[in-house]
Amino acid sequence: MMREKESYLGIDISPLSYDEIIEDLKERINKGVQSTIIAVNPEKVIAGEQNGELKQLINSSTYQIPDGIGILLASKLKGGRITSRVTGVDMMARLVEFASLNNHKVFLYGAKEEVVKTAKNNLEVKYPGLVISGYANGYVNNQEDLIQSINDSGAVLLFVAMGSPKQELWIRENMNKLNVKVFQGVGGSFDVFAGHVKRAPAFYRNLGIEWLYRLLKEPKRFKRQLALPRFLLKILVSK
Ligand code: UDP
Repeated sequence: MMREKESYLGIDISPLSYDEIIEDLKERINKGVQSTIIAVNPEKVIAGEQNGELKQLINSSTYQIPDGIGILLASKLKGGRITSRVTGVDMMARLVEFASLNNHKVFLYGAKEEVVKTAKNNLEVKYPGLVISGYANGYVNNQEDLIQSINDSGAVLLFVAMGSPKQELWIRENMNKLNVKVFQGVGGSFDVFAGHVKRAPAFYRNLGIEWLYRLLKEPKRFKRQLALPRFLLKILVSK
């Protein structure tokens, strides 16, 4: 896929849609090349701008998906072409569906034992044919056994749910020991698939205003949400 990445405050963002990423991944899997997916939101752009190591971690990923309306607004302000969100949790759902249709095995690593187990069961019910050939909770201490069991599982896709940037650091450190081809850091997504965390209702999701739903439910988030206008202001004055 040739389309060029966009860059905000030095952080790269992939302009590809869900379908384009999956098309691209098909080719890369066939070639035996490993790929990494990281979700980027305004908070991560700001953090990356201030921390060179984090910036490098983000920019060295294969796909930096635009998770959050803030990135879309930044693209709009700067004449970019990113017009739809690619969220971490929906990307994972699309990849799991892709895996089920192409007989690729999947491994889940992260979250609490009960959460990851329930997420596995729910996903296997939702996507017939899906094979989740192994899983581990995010609090295991024997890393050598873990690496071994991921490789033994034959997984082509690995989802790591330990929060950011912990999950991405883990992926970077271990990918060369793994036969996995597609790695995605998915934050709290296993909690969502397990049904432990509710997403905003479709009404809010469709309008891209999940932030408003969260604000109404949890007014103390207001301070955190001030980060968005601050981010946009920074984007406006950046060259
Ligand atoms: N988690 C984990 N191991 C850890 C720390 C966190 O497995 O050492 C899991 C935790 O149980 C939860 C998820 O990581 O399921 C946290 O996701 P969070 O929503 O904080 O991540 P974000 O989406 O904000 O990056």
